[in-house]
Parts: sequence; C-alpha cells; structure tokens
Amino acid sequence: MDTIPWDQIFFILEAWQKGLSDAGFSVPSVSALSLEVQSEQTKAWVVLVSTIISLRTKDEVTIASSRRLLVKAPGPQDLLQLPKEMVAQLIYPAGFYRTKAEHLVQIAAILVDRYHGRVPDNMEELLALPGVGRKTANLVLSEGFEQDAICVDTHVHRICNRTGWVHTKTPEETEYALRNTLPRLYWRRINWLLVLFGQQVCRPQSPYCSRCPLADHCIRRDVLKSR
Ligand code: SF4
Repeated sequence: MDTIPWDQIFFILEAWQKGLSDAGFSVPSVSALSLEVQSEQTKAWVVLVSTIISLRTKDEVTIASSRRLLVKAPGPQDLLQLPKEMVAQLIYPAGFYRTKAEHLVQIAAILVDRYHGRVPDNMEELLALPGVGRKTANLVLSEGFEQDAICVDTHVHRICNRTGWVHTKTPEETEYALRNTLPRLYWRRINWLLVLFGQQVCRPQSPYCSRCPLADHCIRRDVLKSR
C-alpha cells in the first residue's frame, strides 16, 4: 500500500465503535480499570498490574482478578505486605497466576526500593521490571502516563499485516513500522480500536470480511478463509 489514508481509516473505526456502543454493546477492557482512578501514579500502577495479569487471560477474568488484587494492594507498598501465596490466590484463575504473582511481588519490591514506590515513566526502566515486555510497557506509558505510545498486541499485529498497512513478522516489528507511518495523533488510540475490531470483526480464524467496514482499505494478506 503506497499512502495509507489513516484519517479515513480512523474515521471508519471510530464510527464503527460508536455504532457498537450506541447499540448498548460494551466490551470488557483492561483500560477500563484505569479510567476509574484519578492520579497518574495510581493509574500507572493499575495499568501495570492489570496488564501483567492479562497476559494469556480472558478480559473478564483479568478484570475480576485485578479488582480483587487492587482492593488489597492499591499501591506497591501495600502489595509488598501480602504473602506471595495470597497474591496468587487473589489473581487466580488468571493464566500462569503463580509466575505472575512472583513477578508482581518482585516488581513491587523494586518500585519501593528504587523508585520510592512510584512506577517509572519511561520505556527503558519499565522493560527492566520482571515480566514486563514492550506491550505492557507501552500500555503503561499510554494509559497510565498519557504519553504517545503504540501498544501492539496480537490483534494489532494481525490486523495491520492482513490489511497491508505494515508487512512484519513480530509485534515488535509492527510497533516500529507503525511508528514510521502512523500519525502520532493515533498512537494511543490504535490499540483500543483494533483490539475491539479484532475480537468482533477481523477475528484470528475466519474473519468477517463480508461485513467489514475496512474492506476497501485491506489487501487481505494471508486470509485463506473468511466469512
Ligand atoms: S477485510 Fe477481512 S481481513 Fe481485512 S480487515 Fe476486514 S475482516 Fe480483516
């Protein structure tokens, strides 16, 4: 694709999402948790904790597990007071809950020891935390600190490649490709729109191409079966 008409694409996606919400449809989202809290630091902590819990876990489970843990541990200092086994119990049945509990306790200790209980607001320091990859770090920067960051998860990676907006092999490559082509205005928004779109329309197996509002902007790369 030569020039990607991003304004048009985002206009279509925003209108599609508005249509869903006008029809009363609501999709559980990790980012919804962060909207309920006020300060930047609290938001960053909520996003960090819930995103770690969310890896390989359904949204509904993530939200319930995060809420249970965050009630007991509204900050890193509070989490450090909890035994690791209790952290694991609180986030169960999230996938890999024992490993995640271990990481969360280690992260809380690092934040208290090195950062006075604060979540760092830059990529390098976030990536140095146990269990934190680029997806989590970008979500903390974008949702927690409202910085321009592109969070590429499996949905964003898949859709951007199918449509032909990028041609990459890994989510990390997709993030860098999007940094080069996507106007900054849309960096924070793309994750939220495409996750929902990937769950509802451009699904991993057999996407709904016949009723896709983005069909005119998609080359359907590697789509062998669709509905
Ligand atoms: S046309 Fe099909 S492959 Fe392309 S974005 Fe829409 S659902 Fe996905």
